Amino acid sequence: MNGIYLDHAATTPVHPEVARVYAELLTSTFGNASSIHGTGRAARKLLDDSRATVAGLIGARPEEMIFTGGGTESDNFAIFGTAEARSDEGRHIITTGIEHHAVLNACKRLEKRGFEVTWLPVDREGRVSPDDVKDALREDTILVTIMAANNEVGTIQPIREIGEILKGHSATFHTDAVQAFGEIPVDVKEFGVDLLSASAHKINGPKGIGFLYQRNGTKIVPPTSGGEQERKRRAGTENVPGIAAFAKAAEIAQESLAERRERHEAFKQIMTGILKETGTAFSVNADRAETLPNILNLSFPGTDIESLLVNLDLAGIHVSSGSACTAGSIDPSHVLVAMHGESAEELRNSVRFSFGYGLSEEDIRSAAEKTAAVVRRLAGQ
Ligand SMILES: *Cc1c(COP(=O)(O)O)cnc(C)c1O
Repeated sequence: MNGIYLDHAATTPVHPEVARVYAELLTSTFGNASSIHGTGRAARKLLDDSRATVAGLIGARPEEMIFTGGGTESDNFAIFGTAEARSDEGRHIITTGIEHHAVLNACKRLEKRGFEVTWLPVDREGRVSPDDVKDALREDTILVTIMAANNEVGTIQPIREIGEILKGHSATFHTDAVQAFGEIPVDVKEFGVDLLSASAHKINGPKGIGFLYQRNGTKIVPPTSGGEQERKRRAGTENVPGIAAFAKAAEIAQESLAERRERHEAFKQIMTGILKETGTAFSVNADRAETLPNILNLSFPGTDIESLLVNLDLAGIHVSSGSACTAGSIDPSHVLVAMHGESAEELRNSVRFSFGYGLSEEDIRSAAEKTAAVVRRLAGQ
């Protein structure tokens, strides 16, 4: 591959060990896990083993795990599934303004269907206040959905504190842990959540696989009707090789958690160090918050997103911003708007660098030097 890939929060390469397992299983263990013959039973055993592995990594029981088609499906399942199961008890939902679109747009759709959504604010560091959650709770609140860590700026949310508050309330507590899982310890008991989403392709697994943790006793209506797979909660033939590959990726992520944290924290220091040494003007978004080790979101005053992304790409630096550029006009990142306000300069010049598998210190040095050169040229420094 030409260029330095620093967009691991968007997606990741499949880990070679995971790819090996996955490729082998596609031909060796292709059976339908519902079939009663030997081929089917082999697939069933692999599915059961993978389920137990992933459940163990988050402190869940195997029967509480539902494998899905990815993070978006898990988020939608949690939100629509709760709304449908509990609309008789209430129609109020609490979420934040910095959720991934898989949560954001699901909640907006429910608003159109007559549910009332409270959109909690965040501070300048992108943090949700547990007190705000407490104040927003009502008797008819049926769902609280707050992400474990943000995908644009990396801010880690106080999920445990929010979980404590919700212990005294009947609302279902969902967290989108797609970015957090595999980067920081995720334990459903410690978090105090009822539902939790994760995705394989963000942790060096294949695309199109995810899971939804559903605490025993939590009511949700399945999004699909069909066969009785996943204890009648997710109809459709299970992608057993993909699920096994996800389990392998999750195991590798867990084993290397501390080592990667250290490496990625060092990468952040190297990047910001080189930018400082070269006299490049920049600021770090969510600088004072606890953030994911692999996400570094930087603002470069005097530049604009479009020319930044184009020129960084030309220089072989593959990064992204949370802003959508359509036909020359820029739709600013909803996360940065929530953090800095509608008119902040950061909305126009912020870029996300996200680290992951296969990057060396040398890559980071090179990327930082090239970034510094691009930014200084664009900003006329
Ligand atoms: C990537 C991502 C998703 C969506 O996951 P997919 O598997 O790509 O559907 C949801 N939430 C967050 C925070 C993400 O980063």
